[in-house]
Amino acid sequence: MVSLVLVSHSRALAEGAAALAREMGGDVPIALAAGLDDPPGAIGTDAMKVLAAIEQVYSEDGVAVLMDLGSAVLSAETALEFLDEERRARVRLCNAPFVEGAIAAAAQARIGASLEQVVAEAEAAGRDKGIAPQQPRSPHEVAEPTPLAVPPEGTLKAQFTLPNVLGIHARPAARIVQMLSTLQAEVTVRNVTLGSAPANARSLNALLLLGARKGHVVEVSAAGPDAARVLDQFQALIAENLGDPPEEGATTGVVLAAVPEGALKGIAASPGVAMGKAHWLHRATPQAQAESHANTPRNAAHERQRLERALAQARERIAALSEHVARAHGASAAAIFQAHLSLLDDPALRAEAERALSEGFSAEQALQRAAAQLAEPLAQSEDALLRARAADVNDVVQQVLAQLAPSALEEHQLSADNTPLVLCAEAFAPSEVARLPANVVALCAVGDSAVSHAAILARAAGVPAVFGVGEALRTVGDGHTLIVDGDGGFVLAAPSATLQAHYAERLAQRDQQRRAAQQAAHLPAQTRSGKRVEVAANIGSLEDAQRALEQGADGVGLFRTEFLFLDRTAPPDEEEQYHAYRAIAALLQGRRLVVRTLDVGGDKPLAWLALPKENNPFLGLRGLRLCLARPEVFQVQLRALARVACEFPLHVMFPMVSTLEEWRAARAMWEEVAAPLGARAALGIMVETPAAALQAELFAPEVDFFSVGTNDLTQYVFAAERGNPALAHLNDAFHPVVLALIERVCQAAHAHGKWVGVCGELGADTRAIPALVALGVDELSVAPAAVARVKQTIRALP
Ligand code: PEP
Ligand code: MG
Repeated sequence: MVSLVLVSHSRALAEGAAALAREMGGDVPIALAAGLDDPPGAIGTDAMKVLAAIEQVYSEDGVAVLMDLGSAVLSAETALEFLDEERRARVRLCNAPFVEGAIAAAAQARIGASLEQVVAEAEAAGRDKGIAPQQPRSPHEVAEPTPLAVPPEGTLKAQFTLPNVLGIHARPAARIVQMLSTLQAEVTVRNVTLGSAPANARSLNALLLLGARKGHVVEVSAAGPDAARVLDQFQALIAENLGDPPEEGATTGVVLAAVPEGALKGIAASPGVAMGKAHWLHRATPQAQAESHANTPRNAAHERQRLERALAQARERIAALSEHVARAHGASAAAIFQAHLSLLDDPALRAEAERALSEGFSAEQALQRAAAQLAEPLAQSEDALLRARAADVNDVVQQVLAQLAPSALEEHQLSADNTPLVLCAEAFAPSEVARLPANVVALCAVGDSAVSHAAILARAAGVPAVFGVGEALRTVGDGHTLIVDGDGGFVLAAPSATLQAHYAERLAQRDQQRRAAQQAAHLPAQTRSGKRVEVAANIGSLEDAQRALEQGADGVGLFRTEFLFLDRTAPPDEEEQYHAYRAIAALLQGRRLVVRTLDVGGDKPLAWLALPKENNPFLGLRGLRLCLARPEVFQVQLRALARVACEFPLHVMFPMVSTLEEWRAARAMWEEVAAPLGARAALGIMVETPAAALQAELFAPEVDFFSVGTNDLTQYVFAAERGNPALAHLNDAFHPVVLALIERVCQAAHAHGKWVGVCGELGADTRAIPALVALGVDELSVAPAAVARVKQTIRALP
């Protein structure tokens, strides 16, 4: 069997890559030559260590050597000089990306491939990253399969729908390659959904490049003596969910089989189990108010003014809600409300409302007529995703109507006492789910779907939900005991004592697991092999910081300072900012505090900051770009921060950096305000643009740290707006392309002794944490509520 040597500047990186490679390579011998011994743990490579590693795993079948940065190659080449000729002939230095190469090489070595095949496969792994800037590729072009000219006679074909979220990712791909190693057949796989060409099924890379994910249809073609067995084995693999565990916490959207008798079946919209008293949501809708104005011609100018004012007020409310959700449940959940904000400005809505106003309709009627034009085609669509979007239009309209007739919207008196309630409704508006009182333990809806924004928010908030229960739900009266099984997708009305006991036990078990994680939350998190990973919190206010500490955060990895600047008519002055930042720094008592400078702009407009309208706000004047363009605003914030830095340790981080010039300009402005005060702070950048990631080697010598904002980085990598539900399938931060950029940042940073954090949503994604840690990420910064779980996940890593 071919063995592997991993040469890296960083011991941690090599260990992480080896752990990943072992997942694919089983018992393939792997030796590490990583870091320096003097001083222990120092970054660097040493030819003698490479030599020792080669000797350690030397095999007659050959040794493949993978290296990270330039001087690792030099060390490996030097090591070869010391080998005798015979051994040297059996050692190959691979021109391959470090982590992907190691994984691909291990998978090949495991199935007994020759040294040449192992090296070829490792080197081809680089193509998987697809980041060579000169070769933009479409999903149809990326699969560079081994071309099959004409399918041989007697080719058997079968199509399969992929059942698991990640589809053919690295582990199933390795299993396929391994499975085929004992079968005689020429096998190709094609992603029918993406219309790709057939890929050689014996190549891990070709399989990964299919980009095959959950729901995609793949076609397997096999020719040769074992063709039928190939299809059988694929069938078995699909039946096993491609070897992935059942998807806990994912949107199942399916009704599960194990449903107790008498249960009301629905759709598993948000996982978890809860028990409480049914409470129907009674809304005194502003709609009734709107209708009462019908048939009386209105003064168009007056109604226009009312509508404009209501739209502006609704905008402020929704922006505030978005901030609240971002802090509580993360930016991707908040993106729903960013989409709502853009609905307020929808040109079709505006034009239709204007037409109705000029015809003498009231503001309420004009708005409803315009919204109906937008929502009806959506509501009638055959596509569940589009139907779900009609609910968003209605939610936004209700919010504007509420401003037009404020007394009409009843505030729900749900939290009068602490009785656990299961809230029932025909369907929920996203804004309602975003503001649930603490005693609401679950949601049930007659209609609605698992792809609605209400369902997404319920999942983000960890509130179990069963939707689409149908008319049967209406038989449940207020005050009845309900058990909501969000895992199974059913509701139990008036459950028997036995069922109640069973569920009480399940709830107790979950509680116990949560408590165990919670109890260990205040301890540092390290992997089983001893790698320490900081788990910090993303906060937006002093209250968040308090919560973060209660939840065991090691510090604050991202303090979004925007909250101070929103919902007001003038920016906060230096004094106000100083006190706000200082309070948080004081609370943290020396723990790391990373303050992000103002990150607003076209997509997060501020009333007091008159900005020109942009066609493409996400590509516009936002983040650091805006601060550099408005130095009078930026300087005030920097001065407030510099004053805090005189008293407490402080990290200052600039968002949306894309060039060295921007970073240097920001640093120069900081120095200009900090120097006279004698203030010192660590200065870093967020990596949110592909340009920043691809220039990490240039930034690394100058910055003190990096923090990867995977939410924005993903949207810019795929050119897919992060809040646009129609593009949700592209919003995949766990894609190899994004991981490749993170790897690049880690390598560049570590080569200069700098640390890397991940403060986007990916950092809290249990599936992604092993990969991030293996790539060398030093800090994960997550919502306070996720801290204990993330630490627990890290502790389980090898
Ligand atoms: C990010 O982009 O990943 C990030 C953390 O910043 P925000 O979500 O605030 O844009
Ligand atoms: Mg961002």
